Amino acid sequence: MRNFINEKVQNLQESGIRRFFELANAYDDIISLGVGEPDFPTPWHVRDEGIYAIQQGKTYYTSNAGMLELRQAIADEIKKKTDIYYDPNTEVLVTSGGSEAIDVALRSTVSPGDEVIYCIPAYVTYLSCIQLADGVPVPIHLKEEDNFRLTPEALRAAITPKSKILVLNYPNNPTGAIMEREDLEAIADIIIEHDLLVITDEIYSELTYLDKPHASIISVPGMRERTIYMNGFSKAYAMTGWRLGYLCAPDYITSQMAKVHQASIMAASTISQFAGIEAIKNGQADIDHMRDAYNQRRRYLVLSLREMGLPCFEPQGAFYVFPNISQFGMTSEAFSMRLIEDQHLAVVPGTAFGVSGEGFVRISYAYSINQLRTAMGRLADFIEKLR
Ligand code: PLP
Repeated sequence: MRNFINEKVQNLQESGIRRFFELANAYDDIISLGVGEPDFPTPWHVRDEGIYAIQQGKTYYTSNAGMLELRQAIADEIKKKTDIYYDPNTEVLVTSGGSEAIDVALRSTVSPGDEVIYCIPAYVTYLSCIQLADGVPVPIHLKEEDNFRLTPEALRAAITPKSKILVLNYPNNPTGAIMEREDLEAIADIIIEHDLLVITDEIYSELTYLDKPHASIISVPGMRERTIYMNGFSKAYAMTGWRLGYLCAPDYITSQMAKVHQASIMAASTISQFAGIEAIKNGQADIDHMRDAYNQRRRYLVLSLREMGLPCFEPQGAFYVFPNISQFGMTSEAFSMRLIEDQHLAVVPGTAFGVSGEGFVRISYAYSINQLRTAMGRLADFIEKLR
């Protein structure tokens, strides 16, 4: 028989994260700090709206772009947070999670051979989506000494005549880094100078721990017209399983993205959209409550890791810490593997996020403080033995 599989698909890398969790499942008493998923349940008032939609028989397709009431609520929320307004009729597209949004944004803009710049360590999906869109991935290696921020120098060095898009993700998975307004302004100057498009994944925008609010590149002058803004409900409202996200962009882009979205998904889940309206309109107190809990855990982890002698960049956003384990002279994969075997504790090797993650592991703190305490005890024992 012929090989029926598309060559591009055959060459896609499987997520290194999943492989680790299959390994970890072999132990009954495993503590796994691997998954990037809130440990909180979806707030009850949000769940109720989903249940109510089903009870009322509101189970038909919505418009391809999503319910207008939801698009309006999204536009209002973005205006409140960034002072930028998107027209809900033409510039907002509701997607089946942030994951679909990333795929649609890239497939709608990349032509074969276009270079897409992205920063590593990176959320695993970008590379696959760039490859599936026939783009040429151009990674920028972020450095711990730059606080894992993208610097203007690094961006300039990555740009060629074939560059078309920069994918940004701040607050960042896996490092927990953020970019401040001044950082974004310096990047925007270069983007405008080289006539590039930005796809900004701001799915962790509600989870930042500085006194200042999250800064978005869309509010830097000149950037709204050359940016695709992506966000979603999974992280902020603890709604991973509802599969709800969105894209906002000028209508000349959104109208094209709508075609790709329509071809592959048609429309996001109607039930989830009803729940999403409730979340975005009335969920701020839930976000604040969860953010406070994450912040407490973040402080505890950074302190514990440093106390056991692991240098740890202080994350300012998302729910991950990214300690440096290079002192032990083994790969991050070997470190993580031995940690599972010796202590039944699972973390993610930094290399799951690209080669520049070598020397680091990612620990998620979307887990209860009790679990984190036990985990830190196990990690301290492990490190003691390695020394
Ligand atoms: N972007 C980043 C940076 C993420 O970490 C994730 C999930 O882990 C997503 C996008 C996708 O989220 P979802 O598809 O659940 O909205």
